[in-house]
Amino acid sequence: MRTLARERIAPRAAEIDKSAEFPWDIVELFRENGIFATLADEEYGGIGASALLTVVSIEQISKVCATSGLILAVQELGALAFKLAGTDEQRRRFLPRIASGESIAAYALTEAGSGSDAAAMRSEARRDGEEYVIDGSKRFITNAGVAGLYIVFAKTDLAAGHRGISAFVVESSAPGLEIGRIEPKMGVKGSTTGELFFNGCRVPAENRLGGEGDGFAIAMRILDRSRPGIAAQGLGLAQGATDYALEYARGRETMGEPIAKHQLIAGMLADMETRCEAARGLLYRCGRMIDEGVEGPELSKLSAMTKLFCTDTAMSVTTDAVQVLGGYGFMQEYPVERMMRDAKVTQIYEGTNQIQRLVIAREMLREQRAFLLAGQ
Ligand SMILES: Cc1cc2nc3c(=O)[nH]c(=O)nc-3n(C[C@H](O)[C@H](O)[C@H](O)COP(=O)(O)OP(=O)(O)OC[C@H]3O[C@@H](n4cnc5c(N)ncnc54)[C@H](O)[C@@H]3O)c2cc1C
Repeated sequence: MRTLARERIAPRAAEIDKSAEFPWDIVELFRENGIFATLADEEYGGIGASALLTVVSIEQISKVCATSGLILAVQELGALAFKLAGTDEQRRRFLPRIASGESIAAYALTEAGSGSDAAAMRSEARRDGEEYVIDGSKRFITNAGVAGLYIVFAKTDLAAGHRGISAFVVESSAPGLEIGRIEPKMGVKGSTTGELFFNGCRVPAENRLGGEGDGFAIAMRILDRSRPGIAAQGLGLAQGATDYALEYARGRETMGEPIAKHQLIAGMLADMETRCEAARGLLYRCGRMIDEGVEGPELSKLSAMTKLFCTDTAMSVTTDAVQVLGGYGFMQEYPVERMMRDAKVTQIYEGTNQIQRLVIAREMLREQRAFLLAGQ
């Protein structure tokens, strides 16, 4: 994965950012090298790799190109919908397409009026014989317009709050699905982020994932499992920026010596490396925990902590990397400028870092802990 990243993806990263075009050549590279196959078990056309391997892969790719790392992370998000909520028939029908890369996946939860408060969504799905009819819209959806399979959340019962949400697989060819505006944005520019419109969009009833009303729980379980992927994207960015800053600091001289020898710069590099290593410890622990089959509140908490720490690390370390390069760090000629822009969104999507803190605090309050208070 590292070799592929260094030799084939790194040389494309600046161009992908500049053109802001979806990199189909990187998708082709992933297809040819069986990278998407790591996301499904053998019986569903994959190679059955571990969760740990997936986060290491996303980390290695994001070290050189966060847009390319995001392609793998969101493909995993799609695969998780089937792994966690699909019937055997649905897995057989859809997972081989994800594992071969024939179809790019997308996960459509957010709407114009509901991001952090996902339960406030307004899209609706009404049963009509052997079909559902979806009306509404989604916003900020990664892979809008390039995906073949959309995992879509909509309300089958408007009065039941989050218990009224159901999940559906919507094919890009579904009648009544339209792609709206693709957003120009600050970072991960090669990734498409756009609107989806559902105007009487018809999907077969056998495309519903889980039962009616299970959609919110499914969405949250998927996010518990996919957040480490975004954490891995953040860590990749942070390590990539640290490595670049170190190389630069070795070669750039001021006041008669390399800037790496000036203690203020050396201290900064040491802090950057330490943060990356701490983030990696948390991320790999989370990957192993998933592979050991841990689920529920314990996973929610560790996965939120991992996403929070790795992506806050991404932002602070890439900002420091720009500082280490001085004026050159601000220039588009050097990759740390792109890395700093790319890092920002990792603190926002798949649940903002404020929401991660709420999840962590909620689980802390739920836990029964032995405690010692002074005087008791
Ligand atoms: C590039 C990009 C790609 C994306 N891809 C996808 C995708 O593929 N699929 C998808 O479904 N969504 C996607 N999103 C949407 C993303 O998940 C949401 O933007 C995010 O969850 C925040 O929602 P919001 O933008 O509506 O902000 P809001 O929910 O309006 O939040 C605004 C601010 O208030 C804070 N806040 C909100 N509620 C609370 C609270 N209770 N306590 C404390 N602070 C709070 C937030 O942390 C944030 O700082 C993407 C977004 C971006 C930018």
